[in-house]
Amino acid sequence: MINLFDNALKRLKMAARIIDLDEDLLNVLSSPQRIIELNLPLKKDSGKLQMIKGYRVQYNNFLGPYKGGLRFHEDVDMAEVKSLALWMMVKNALVDVPFGGGKGGLEIDPKTLSEVELEKLTRQFAKALAPNVGPKIDVPAPDVNTNAKIMDWFEAEYSEVTGDETGAVVTGKSLSNGGSLGREEATGMGGFFVLEKLVEKLGLKKPLTVAIQGFGNVGSNMAGILHDNSYEHSSNPSGYKVVAVSDVKGGIYDYSKTGFNIDLVRECRLEKGVLAGCYCIGSVCDLAKKYNNGAVTNEELLELPVDILIPAAIENVITAKNASKIKAKIIFEMANGPTTLEADEILNEKGIMVVPDVLCNSGGVTVSYFEWYQNMNKEVWSLEKVNQKLKEKMEKAFDSLWEISTERKVNLRIAAYILALQRIAEKSPF
Ligand code: NAD
Repeated sequence: MINLFDNALKRLKMAARIIDLDEDLLNVLSSPQRIIELNLPLKKDSGKLQMIKGYRVQYNNFLGPYKGGLRFHEDVDMAEVKSLALWMMVKNALVDVPFGGGKGGLEIDPKTLSEVELEKLTRQFAKALAPNVGPKIDVPAPDVNTNAKIMDWFEAEYSEVTGDETGAVVTGKSLSNGGSLGREEATGMGGFFVLEKLVEKLGLKKPLTVAIQGFGNVGSNMAGILHDNSYEHSSNPSGYKVVAVSDVKGGIYDYSKTGFNIDLVRECRLEKGVLAGCYCIGSVCDLAKKYNNGAVTNEELLELPVDILIPAAIENVITAKNASKIKAKIIFEMANGPTTLEADEILNEKGIMVVPDVLCNSGGVTVSYFEWYQNMNKEVWSLEKVNQKLKEKMEKAFDSLWEISTERKVNLRIAAYILALQRIAEKSPF
Protein backbone atom coordinates (compact mmCIF):
# COMPACT_ATOMS: atom_id res chain seq x y z
CA MET A 1 0.00 0.00 0.00
CA ILE A 2 1.50 3.32 -1.08
CA ASN A 3 1.39 5.94 1.68
CA LEU A 4 0.63 9.06 -0.28
CA PHE A 5 1.30 11.52 2.52
CA ASP A 6 4.65 9.96 3.52
CA ASN A 7 5.75 10.19 -0.10
CA ALA A 8 4.63 13.82 -0.35
CA LEU A 9 6.63 14.61 2.80
CA LYS A 10 9.72 12.81 1.49
CA ARG A 11 9.77 15.07 -1.55
CA LEU A 12 9.31 18.16 0.61
CA LYS A 13 12.20 17.06 2.83
CA MET A 14 14.48 16.32 -0.15
CA ALA A 15 14.02 19.88 -1.38
CA ALA A 16 14.40 21.32 2.14
CA ARG A 17 17.76 19.57 2.53
CA ILE A 18 19.05 21.00 -0.76
CA ILE A 19 18.35 24.59 0.32
CA ASP A 20 19.30 24.01 3.95
CA LEU A 21 15.86 25.02 5.16
CA ASP A 22 15.62 25.77 8.85
CA GLU A 23 14.79 22.50 10.68
CA ASP A 24 12.11 24.13 12.85
CA LEU A 25 10.36 25.58 9.82
CA LEU A 26 10.51 22.21 8.07
CA ASN A 27 8.87 20.64 11.13
CA VAL A 28 6.10 23.23 10.99
CA LEU A 29 5.54 22.52 7.29
CA SER A 30 5.51 18.76 7.81
CA SER A 31 2.04 18.73 9.42
CA PRO A 32 -1.22 20.44 8.55
CA GLN A 33 -2.21 23.39 10.74
CA ARG A 34 -5.77 22.14 11.12
CA ILE A 35 -7.74 19.02 10.23
CA ILE A 36 -11.53 19.00 10.17
CA GLU A 37 -13.18 15.58 10.14
CA LEU A 38 -16.95 15.29 9.84
CA ASN A 39 -19.59 12.58 9.91
CA LEU A 40 -22.52 13.84 7.89
CA PRO A 41 -25.86 12.03 8.14
CA LEU A 42 -27.66 12.17 4.78
CA LYS A 43 -31.36 11.43 4.65
CA LYS A 44 -31.77 9.54 1.36
CA ASP A 45 -34.83 9.86 -0.90
CA SER A 46 -35.85 6.43 0.41
CA GLY A 47 -36.01 7.83 3.96
CA LYS A 48 -32.93 5.86 5.10
CA LEU A 49 -29.99 7.60 6.80
CA GLN A 50 -26.52 7.20 5.31
CA MET A 51 -23.44 8.38 7.23
CA ILE A 52 -20.83 10.04 5.03
CA LYS A 53 -17.30 11.02 6.05
CA GLY A 54 -16.15 14.54 5.21
CA TYR A 55 -12.73 16.18 5.46
CA ARG A 56 -11.15 19.59 5.16
CA VAL A 57 -7.40 19.87 5.70
CA GLN A 58 -6.08 23.41 6.18
CA TYR A 59 -2.42 22.75 5.58
CA ASN A 60 -0.69 26.11 5.76
CA ASN A 61 -1.67 29.78 5.45
CA PHE A 62 1.63 31.71 5.53
CA LEU A 63 0.97 33.04 2.02
CA GLY A 64 -2.77 33.72 2.41
CA PRO A 65 -6.14 31.98 2.93
CA TYR A 66 -6.11 28.19 2.53
CA LYS A 67 -7.08 27.24 -1.00
CA GLY A 68 -7.80 23.90 -2.65
CA GLY A 69 -10.54 21.75 -4.11
CA LEU A 70 -13.30 19.53 -2.78
CA ARG A 71 -13.30 15.95 -4.07
CA PHE A 72 -16.35 13.66 -3.92
CA HIS A 73 -15.10 10.12 -4.42
CA GLU A 74 -15.54 6.77 -2.69
CA ASP A 75 -11.74 6.49 -2.13
CA VAL A 76 -11.34 9.86 -0.38
CA ASP A 77 -9.52 9.40 2.93
CA MET A 78 -7.37 11.40 5.31
CA ALA A 79 -3.99 10.44 3.78
CA GLU A 80 -5.21 11.49 0.34
CA VAL A 81 -6.69 14.79 1.48
CA LYS A 82 -3.56 15.65 3.53
CA SER A 83 -1.31 14.97 0.53
CA LEU A 84 -3.50 16.99 -1.80
CA ALA A 85 -3.50 19.87 0.72
CA LEU A 86 0.31 19.79 0.98
CA TRP A 87 0.58 19.84 -2.82
CA MET A 88 -1.77 22.84 -2.91
CA MET A 89 0.59 24.67 -0.54
CA VAL A 90 3.48 23.98 -2.93
CA LYS A 91 1.44 24.78 -6.06
CA ASN A 92 0.05 28.09 -4.82
CA ALA A 93 3.50 29.23 -3.73
CA LEU A 94 5.22 28.37 -6.99
CA VAL A 95 2.59 29.92 -9.23
CA ASP A 96 2.73 32.95 -6.93
CA VAL A 97 -0.90 33.45 -5.91
CA PRO A 98 -1.64 34.84 -2.42
CA PHE A 99 -3.04 31.60 -1.02
CA GLY A 100 -1.95 28.86 1.32
CA GLY A 101 -2.79 25.18 0.83
CA GLY A 102 -5.95 23.26 1.67
CA LYS A 103 -8.07 20.42 0.36
CA GLY A 104 -11.25 18.60 1.27
CA GLY A 105 -13.65 15.96 0.23
CA LEU A 106 -16.47 13.57 0.90
CA GLU A 107 -16.09 9.80 0.88
CA ILE A 108 -18.92 9.14 -1.55
CA ASP A 109 -19.43 8.27 -5.19
CA PRO A 110 -21.81 11.07 -6.24
CA LYS A 111 -23.15 8.89 -9.06
CA THR A 112 -24.93 6.83 -6.40
CA LEU A 113 -26.95 9.90 -5.29
CA SER A 114 -29.97 11.61 -6.82
CA GLU A 115 -29.65 15.33 -7.62
CA VAL A 116 -31.76 16.17 -4.55
CA GLU A 117 -29.51 14.04 -2.31
CA LEU A 118 -26.35 15.59 -3.80
CA GLU A 119 -27.58 19.13 -3.15
CA LYS A 120 -28.66 18.22 0.39
CA LEU A 121 -25.27 16.66 1.13
CA THR A 122 -23.29 19.57 -0.37
CA ARG A 123 -25.32 22.09 1.67
CA GLN A 124 -24.77 20.06 4.84
CA PHE A 125 -21.05 19.99 4.15
CA ALA A 126 -21.05 23.77 3.57
CA LYS A 127 -23.02 24.40 6.78
CA ALA A 128 -20.66 22.25 8.82
CA LEU A 129 -17.59 23.97 7.36
CA ALA A 130 -19.07 27.51 7.45
CA PRO A 131 -17.38 28.61 10.72
CA ASN A 132 -13.98 27.59 9.35
CA VAL A 133 -14.08 28.72 5.70
CA GLY A 134 -14.64 32.12 4.07
CA PRO A 135 -13.13 34.49 1.49
CA LYS A 136 -10.31 35.48 3.83
CA ILE A 137 -9.98 32.14 5.67
CA ASP A 138 -10.29 29.18 3.34
CA VAL A 139 -11.60 29.11 -0.24
CA PRO A 140 -12.58 25.68 -1.71
CA ALA A 141 -12.96 24.89 -5.44
CA PRO A 142 -13.99 21.98 -7.69
CA ASP A 143 -11.93 18.80 -8.01
CA VAL A 144 -12.70 15.20 -9.00
CA ASN A 145 -16.50 14.69 -9.35
CA THR A 146 -17.37 18.24 -8.28
CA ASN A 147 -18.38 21.08 -10.59
CA ALA A 148 -19.85 24.58 -10.88
CA LYS A 149 -23.31 23.43 -9.77
CA ILE A 150 -21.89 21.95 -6.56
CA MET A 151 -19.84 25.11 -5.93
CA ASP A 152 -23.02 27.21 -6.42
CA TRP A 153 -24.87 25.13 -3.78
CA PHE A 154 -21.92 25.46 -1.41
CA GLU A 155 -21.80 29.24 -1.91
CA ALA A 156 -25.59 29.61 -1.47
CA GLU A 157 -25.57 27.70 1.83
CA TYR A 158 -22.52 29.58 3.14
CA SER A 159 -24.13 32.89 2.26
CA GLU A 160 -27.40 31.88 4.00
CA VAL A 161 -25.53 30.88 7.17
CA THR A 162 -23.11 33.83 7.32
CA GLY A 163 -24.76 36.63 5.32
CA ASP A 164 -21.60 36.96 3.18
CA GLU A 165 -22.50 38.39 -0.22
CA THR A 166 -19.14 38.49 -1.96
CA GLY A 167 -19.56 34.98 -3.40
CA ALA A 168 -15.83 34.58 -2.85
CA VAL A 169 -16.04 31.66 -0.39
CA VAL A 170 -15.60 29.22 -3.30
CA THR A 171 -14.28 29.46 -6.84
CA GLY A 172 -15.27 27.49 -9.91
CA LYS A 173 -18.86 28.78 -9.63
CA SER A 174 -21.15 29.09 -12.63
CA LEU A 175 -20.82 32.28 -14.68
CA SER A 176 -24.25 33.54 -13.61
CA ASN A 177 -23.23 33.15 -9.97
CA GLY A 178 -19.93 35.05 -9.95
CA GLY A 179 -17.75 32.48 -11.72
CA SER A 180 -14.92 33.66 -13.95
CA LEU A 181 -14.75 33.35 -17.70
CA GLY A 182 -12.09 30.78 -18.52
CA ARG A 183 -12.24 28.92 -15.16
CA GLU A 184 -13.84 25.78 -16.61
CA GLU A 185 -10.98 25.17 -19.04
CA ALA A 186 -8.27 26.94 -16.98
CA THR A 187 -6.43 23.83 -15.81
CA GLY A 188 -6.12 22.49 -19.37
CA MET A 189 -5.27 25.90 -20.77
CA GLY A 190 -2.58 26.50 -18.14
CA GLY A 191 -1.14 23.06 -18.92
CA PHE A 192 -1.06 23.92 -22.61
CA PHE A 193 0.91 27.13 -21.99
CA VAL A 194 3.49 25.16 -19.98
CA LEU A 195 3.68 22.39 -22.59
CA GLU A 196 4.34 24.90 -25.36
CA LYS A 197 7.22 26.43 -23.37
CA LEU A 198 8.67 23.00 -22.66
CA VAL A 199 8.50 21.86 -26.29
CA GLU A 200 10.24 25.08 -27.31
CA LYS A 201 12.91 24.72 -24.61
CA LEU A 202 13.65 21.13 -25.60
CA GLY A 203 13.53 21.93 -29.32
CA LEU A 204 11.17 19.02 -29.98
CA LYS A 205 10.10 18.40 -33.56
CA LYS A 206 6.33 18.61 -34.20
CA PRO A 207 3.84 17.08 -34.67
CA LEU A 208 3.96 15.32 -31.30
CA THR A 209 1.71 12.41 -30.37
CA VAL A 210 -0.14 12.54 -27.06
CA ALA A 211 -1.99 9.98 -24.88
CA ILE A 212 -4.30 11.29 -22.15
CA GLN A 213 -5.65 9.24 -19.24
CA GLY A 214 -8.86 10.74 -17.84
CA PHE A 215 -11.53 12.58 -19.82
CA GLY A 216 -13.15 14.76 -17.17
CA ASN A 217 -12.71 18.50 -16.73
CA VAL A 218 -8.92 18.39 -16.99
CA GLY A 219 -8.38 15.58 -19.50
CA SER A 220 -11.13 16.52 -21.96
CA ASN A 221 -10.23 20.22 -21.92
CA MET A 222 -6.55 19.44 -22.43
CA ALA A 223 -7.46 17.07 -25.28
CA GLY A 224 -9.71 19.73 -26.85
CA ILE A 225 -7.06 22.45 -26.61
CA LEU A 226 -4.37 20.19 -28.13
CA HIS A 227 -6.82 19.20 -30.87
CA ASP A 228 -7.54 22.87 -31.65
CA ASN A 229 -3.80 23.27 -31.96
CA SER A 230 -3.29 20.21 -34.11
CA TYR A 231 -1.88 20.47 -37.64
CA GLU A 232 -5.30 20.21 -39.18
CA HIS A 233 -7.28 22.57 -36.96
CA SER A 234 -5.29 25.72 -36.49
CA SER A 235 -4.24 28.57 -38.73
CA ASN A 236 -1.12 28.70 -36.58
CA PRO A 237 -0.68 25.02 -35.87
CA SER A 238 1.44 24.04 -32.93
CA GLY A 239 1.22 20.43 -33.91
CA TYR A 240 -0.19 17.92 -31.44
CA LYS A 241 -2.00 14.70 -32.27
CA VAL A 242 -4.13 13.24 -29.52
CA VAL A 243 -3.90 9.53 -30.34
CA ALA A 244 -5.27 8.00 -27.13
CA VAL A 245 -7.83 9.01 -24.49
CA SER A 246 -9.54 7.12 -21.69
CA ASP A 247 -12.06 7.40 -18.90
CA VAL A 248 -12.62 5.18 -15.88
CA LYS A 249 -14.10 2.42 -18.07
CA GLY A 250 -11.18 2.27 -20.53
CA GLY A 251 -10.00 4.07 -23.64
CA ILE A 252 -9.41 4.30 -27.37
CA TYR A 253 -6.15 4.34 -29.32
CA ASP A 254 -5.72 5.60 -32.86
CA TYR A 255 -3.35 3.02 -34.32
CA SER A 256 -2.99 5.08 -37.51
CA LYS A 257 -1.60 7.99 -35.42
CA THR A 258 -3.69 10.48 -37.41
CA GLY A 259 -5.08 11.93 -34.19
CA PHE A 260 -8.65 11.84 -32.87
CA ASN A 261 -11.17 14.54 -33.66
CA ILE A 262 -11.78 15.50 -30.02
CA ASP A 263 -14.93 17.53 -30.76
CA LEU A 264 -16.52 14.39 -32.21
CA VAL A 265 -15.11 12.19 -29.45
CA ARG A 266 -16.77 14.48 -26.89
CA GLU A 267 -20.11 14.34 -28.71
CA CYS A 268 -19.90 10.57 -29.02
CA ARG A 269 -19.03 10.16 -25.34
CA LEU A 270 -21.94 12.35 -24.33
CA GLU A 271 -24.24 10.18 -26.40
CA LYS A 272 -22.90 6.81 -25.20
CA GLY A 273 -21.87 7.77 -21.66
CA VAL A 274 -18.44 6.10 -22.17
CA LEU A 275 -15.46 6.63 -24.43
CA ALA A 276 -15.19 3.02 -25.56
CA GLY A 277 -16.10 2.78 -29.25
CA CYS A 278 -15.84 6.54 -29.90
CA TYR A 279 -13.30 6.13 -32.67
CA CYS A 280 -13.60 9.55 -34.32
CA ILE A 281 -11.02 10.52 -36.93
CA GLY A 282 -11.44 13.26 -39.53
CA SER A 283 -15.11 14.15 -39.79
CA VAL A 284 -16.61 10.76 -38.91
CA CYS A 285 -16.84 8.38 -35.99
CA ASP A 286 -16.41 4.79 -36.96
CA LEU A 287 -15.53 1.61 -35.20
CA ALA A 288 -12.03 0.50 -36.20
CA LYS A 289 -13.01 -3.13 -36.18
CA LYS A 290 -9.63 -4.48 -37.15
CA TYR A 291 -7.99 -3.20 -33.96
CA ASN A 292 -10.47 -4.53 -31.46
CA ASN A 293 -12.47 -1.32 -31.99
CA GLY A 294 -9.38 0.68 -31.03
CA ALA A 295 -9.93 -0.33 -27.42
CA VAL A 296 -7.17 0.04 -24.83
CA THR A 297 -7.29 -0.44 -21.10
CA ASN A 298 -6.15 2.32 -18.77
CA GLU A 299 -3.01 0.28 -18.01
CA GLU A 300 -2.21 -0.19 -21.72
CA LEU A 301 -2.71 3.51 -22.43
CA LEU A 302 0.12 4.39 -20.06
CA GLU A 303 2.54 2.17 -21.99
CA LEU A 304 1.74 3.35 -25.54
CA PRO A 305 4.52 4.50 -27.88
CA VAL A 306 3.72 8.23 -27.83
CA ASP A 307 5.81 11.38 -27.40
CA ILE A 308 3.85 12.79 -24.47
CA LEU A 309 1.88 10.91 -21.82
CA ILE A 310 -0.64 12.98 -19.83
CA PRO A 311 -2.12 11.35 -16.74
CA ALA A 312 -5.24 13.44 -15.99
CA ALA A 313 -7.33 11.19 -13.76
CA ILE A 314 -6.21 9.98 -10.34
CA GLU A 315 -3.06 9.47 -8.27
CA ASN A 316 -0.56 6.58 -8.17
CA VAL A 317 -1.10 5.27 -11.72
CA ILE A 318 2.60 5.28 -12.65
CA THR A 319 4.31 2.99 -10.17
CA ALA A 320 7.39 0.79 -9.76
CA LYS A 321 5.41 -1.91 -11.57
CA ASN A 322 4.85 -0.11 -14.89
CA ALA A 323 7.43 2.72 -14.92
CA SER A 324 10.03 0.66 -16.78
CA LYS A 325 7.47 -0.12 -19.52
CA ILE A 326 6.63 3.51 -20.27
CA LYS A 327 7.68 4.55 -23.77
CA ALA A 328 6.72 8.23 -23.77
CA LYS A 329 9.58 10.76 -23.75
CA ILE A 330 7.71 13.17 -21.48
CA ILE A 331 5.22 12.57 -18.67
CA PHE A 332 3.16 15.68 -18.22
CA GLU A 333 1.27 15.37 -14.93
CA MET A 334 -2.12 17.04 -15.19
CA ALA A 335 -3.57 14.83 -12.41
CA ASN A 336 -2.37 15.34 -8.86
CA GLY A 337 0.14 12.75 -7.70
CA PRO A 338 0.00 10.30 -10.63
CA THR A 339 3.65 9.18 -10.22
CA THR A 340 4.92 7.39 -7.11
CA LEU A 341 8.29 8.14 -5.55
CA GLU A 342 9.73 4.80 -6.74
CA ALA A 343 8.44 5.37 -10.26
CA ASP A 344 10.03 8.83 -10.31
CA GLU A 345 13.44 7.23 -9.72
CA ILE A 346 12.97 4.62 -12.46
CA LEU A 347 11.81 7.26 -14.96
CA ASN A 348 14.73 9.50 -14.03
CA GLU A 349 17.16 6.64 -14.75
CA LYS A 350 15.44 5.97 -18.07
CA GLY A 351 15.84 9.64 -19.03
CA ILE A 352 12.07 10.23 -19.21
CA MET A 353 11.26 13.79 -18.25
CA VAL A 354 8.50 14.17 -15.66
CA VAL A 355 6.87 17.60 -15.58
CA PRO A 356 5.32 17.82 -12.11
CA ASP A 357 1.64 18.17 -11.23
CA VAL A 358 2.22 21.23 -9.07
CA LEU A 359 3.31 23.11 -12.20
CA CYS A 360 1.27 21.46 -14.99
CA ASN A 361 -2.16 21.73 -13.35
CA SER A 362 -1.68 25.04 -11.52
CA GLY A 363 -3.71 26.91 -14.17
CA GLY A 364 -6.87 25.88 -12.28
CA VAL A 365 -5.92 27.57 -9.04
CA THR A 366 -4.48 30.54 -10.91
CA VAL A 367 -7.84 31.33 -12.54
CA SER A 368 -9.51 30.49 -9.22
CA TYR A 369 -7.42 33.32 -7.80
CA PHE A 370 -8.60 35.58 -10.64
CA GLU A 371 -12.22 34.62 -9.83
CA TRP A 372 -11.72 35.34 -6.11
CA TYR A 373 -10.08 38.67 -6.99
CA GLN A 374 -12.95 39.66 -9.30
CA ASN A 375 -15.54 38.74 -6.62
CA MET A 376 -13.71 40.66 -3.89
CA ASN A 377 -13.30 43.74 -6.09
CA LYS A 378 -16.65 43.52 -7.92
CA GLU A 379 -14.91 43.22 -11.29
CA VAL A 380 -15.71 41.12 -14.36
CA TRP A 381 -12.76 40.30 -16.60
CA SER A 382 -12.93 39.37 -20.30
CA LEU A 383 -11.81 35.91 -21.42
CA GLU A 384 -8.88 37.51 -23.24
CA LYS A 385 -7.72 39.21 -20.05
CA VAL A 386 -8.06 35.98 -18.03
CA ASN A 387 -6.12 33.92 -20.57
CA GLN A 388 -3.43 36.56 -21.07
CA LYS A 389 -2.83 36.80 -17.31
CA LEU A 390 -2.90 33.01 -17.01
CA LYS A 391 -0.30 32.68 -19.77
CA GLU A 392 1.99 35.19 -18.05
CA LYS A 393 1.74 33.39 -14.69
CA MET A 394 2.28 29.92 -16.15
CA GLU A 395 5.24 30.95 -18.28
CA LYS A 396 6.86 32.77 -15.38
CA ALA A 397 6.48 29.73 -13.12
CA PHE A 398 7.92 27.46 -15.83
CA ASP A 399 10.91 29.74 -16.42
CA SER A 400 11.66 29.91 -12.69
CA LEU A 401 11.53 26.12 -12.32
CA TRP A 402 13.66 25.60 -15.40
CA GLU A 403 16.29 27.99 -14.02
CA ILE A 404 16.38 26.32 -10.60
CA SER A 405 16.48 22.89 -12.18
CA THR A 406 19.44 23.84 -14.41
CA GLU A 407 21.37 25.74 -11.74
CA ARG A 408 20.96 23.18 -8.97
CA LYS A 409 20.98 20.12 -11.27
CA VAL A 410 17.70 18.79 -9.84
CA ASN A 411 14.60 17.54 -11.64
CA LEU A 412 11.64 19.85 -12.20
CA ARG A 413 9.67 18.37 -9.30
CA ILE A 414 12.38 19.09 -6.76
CA ALA A 415 12.86 22.52 -8.36
CA ALA A 416 9.14 23.19 -7.75
CA TYR A 417 9.41 22.26 -4.09
CA ILE A 418 12.56 24.39 -3.72
CA LEU A 419 10.89 27.48 -5.19
CA ALA A 420 7.78 26.96 -3.05
CA LEU A 421 9.79 26.48 0.15
CA GLN A 422 11.82 29.61 -0.53
CA ARG A 423 8.66 31.68 -0.99
CA ILE A 424 6.95 30.22 2.09
CA ALA A 425 10.08 30.72 4.21
CA GLU A 426 10.15 34.42 3.24
CA LYS A 427 6.63 34.90 4.66
CA SER A 428 6.99 32.56 7.64
CA PRO A 429 6.15 34.19 10.96
CA PHE A 430 8.69 31.92 12.68
P1 NAD B 1 -13.20 14.76 -13.20
O1 NAD B 1 -14.01 14.12 -12.16
O2 NAD B 1 -13.81 15.84 -14.01
O3 NAD B 1 -12.61 13.66 -14.22
C1 NAD B 1 -11.89 12.53 -13.81
C2 NAD B 1 -11.68 11.63 -15.02
O4 NAD B 1 -10.87 10.52 -14.64
C3 NAD B 1 -12.97 11.02 -15.59
O5 NAD B 1 -12.87 10.93 -16.99
C4 NAD B 1 -12.99 9.61 -14.99
O6 NAD B 1 -13.73 8.71 -15.80
C5 NAD B 1 -11.51 9.29 -14.98
N1 NAD B 1 -11.15 8.29 -13.97
C6 NAD B 1 -11.61 8.18 -12.71
N2 NAD B 1 -11.06 7.10 -12.11
C7 NAD B 1 -10.21 6.57 -13.00
C8 NAD B 1 -9.35 5.44 -12.99
N3 NAD B 1 -9.27 4.64 -11.92
N4 NAD B 1 -8.60 5.19 -14.10
C9 NAD B 1 -8.71 5.98 -15.18
N5 NAD B 1 -9.52 7.04 -15.26
C10 NAD B 1 -10.25 7.33 -14.20
O7 NAD B 1 -11.88 15.30 -12.45
P2 NAD B 1 -10.92 16.46 -12.91
O8 NAD B 1 -11.36 17.73 -12.29
O9 NAD B 1 -10.71 16.39 -14.38
O10 NAD B 1 -9.57 16.04 -12.16
C11 NAD B 1 -8.65 15.11 -12.70
C12 NAD B 1 -7.31 15.28 -11.99
O11 NAD B 1 -6.84 16.62 -12.15
C13 NAD B 1 -7.35 15.03 -10.48
O12 NAD B 1 -6.11 14.48 -10.08
C14 NAD B 1 -7.49 16.44 -9.92
O13 NAD B 1 -7.03 16.54 -8.59
C15 NAD B 1 -6.60 17.20 -10.88
N6 NAD B 1 -6.86 18.63 -10.92
C16 NAD B 1 -8.09 19.12 -11.25
C17 NAD B 1 -8.26 20.50 -11.34
C18 NAD B 1 -9.57 21.12 -11.80
O14 NAD B 1 -9.60 22.33 -12.01
N7 NAD B 1 -10.63 20.36 -11.99
C19 NAD B 1 -7.20 21.37 -11.06
C20 NAD B 1 -5.97 20.83 -10.73
C21 NAD B 1 -5.81 19.46 -10.67
